Amino acid sequence: MAETPKHFDIVIIGSGPAALTAGIYGARGGATTAVFGGVAPGGQLLQTMEIENFPGFPEPVPGADLMMKMIKQATRLGTVIFSEEIKAVDFGPRPFTLTSDGGRVCTAHSVIVATGAQARWLGLPSEQKFIGKGVSGCATCDGFFYRGKEICVIGGGDSAAEDALFLTKFASKVYLVHRREALRSNFRLQEKLRANPKVEIIYNHVLEEVTGGTHVDGVNLRDVKTGKARRLDLPGVFIAIGHNPSTEVFKGKLNLDDTGYIVTNERMATSVYGVFAAGDVMDTHYKQAIVAAGSGCKAAMEAIQYLETLKK
Ligand SMILES: Cc1cc2nc3c(=O)[nH]c(=O)nc-3n(C[C@H](O)[C@H](O)[C@H](O)COP(=O)(O)OP(=O)(O)OC[C@H]3O[C@@H](n4cnc5c(N)ncnc54)[C@H](O)[C@@H]3O)c2cc1C
Repeated sequence: MAETPKHFDIVIIGSGPAALTAGIYGARGGATTAVFGGVAPGGQLLQTMEIENFPGFPEPVPGADLMMKMIKQATRLGTVIFSEEIKAVDFGPRPFTLTSDGGRVCTAHSVIVATGAQARWLGLPSEQKFIGKGVSGCATCDGFFYRGKEICVIGGGDSAAEDALFLTKFASKVYLVHRREALRSNFRLQEKLRANPKVEIIYNHVLEEVTGGTHVDGVNLRDVKTGKARRLDLPGVFIAIGHNPSTEVFKGKLNLDDTGYIVTNERMATSVYGVFAAGDVMDTHYKQAIVAAGSGCKAAMEAIQYLETLKK
């Protein structure tokens, strides 16, 4: 006989700072709360060894340690954490139904989606090898480590231009490497780049290889027009070619914008009443752990208020 679906007041999908903060606020708000966090709960911060900008940690904290503390805090307050991914959701009949990749089916009065986003990578083996050792997908997070050093940014859109300008605060020189002969970023940003003496734009070049030993020592570029190789000796490479929100499961279930992000209002509500979203999955701009945590808090408070409306 099939098992009766387990019911929770709030089910949270995801396991980064947004999901776990929502878990903390949900459980502490008196709601039965579950987090479905995938095989390795913790989210993107598991990929970084040093976080220096999360309040409350005067010394750099490894991402895994920070996330373990959040998991412990949510669990201590009563949140149930499943190391399973949600594969299907039914946001039609209420309560909502969710199915995990482990075959677990559960129902929930309210759902918070906090499935995050993944930085897009070029996919070069040498790039993958040096992630966290000189290759970064986050200028805000890692720019500080390159004070007085030369670095390069790969990309040509608004985020690459913004990252390059931001990084001039720290780096002695920023090479912006773009594969085409014109940037795609907006005109204002292009003007700022050209006016900044620390920025050199290298057009028509692609990144072929990141080199180094334990840490990056440079990049090999190739001119796409002439085929000529160019070498830059530097310790930092920022890949700024955008992010992919993890919203595959929600296509056709929630309103997504053109780039796949979940659309919410300022109170984290999605297009389905009772379903909220928080963190990088709905944040096209900030993509920081503390912002994700803050939005997870807001989503849980809104979910609890929503649960109250069901009692009336
Ligand atoms: C290398 C690196 C370094 C960074 N450094 C910093 C830093 O120093 N400071 C800072 O503030 N920010 C930093 N960031 C950014 C920060 O990690 C993100 O802004 C933050 O983690 C976003 O949190 P989130 O909760 O929205 O989602 P995420 O952290 O993206 O977590 C989402 C989780 O949900 C899971 N998931 C996805 N789909 C499903 C599903 N269907 N079912 C179940 N689970 C699912 C994913 O596997 C993932 O574990 C860094 C990011 C990277 C990649």
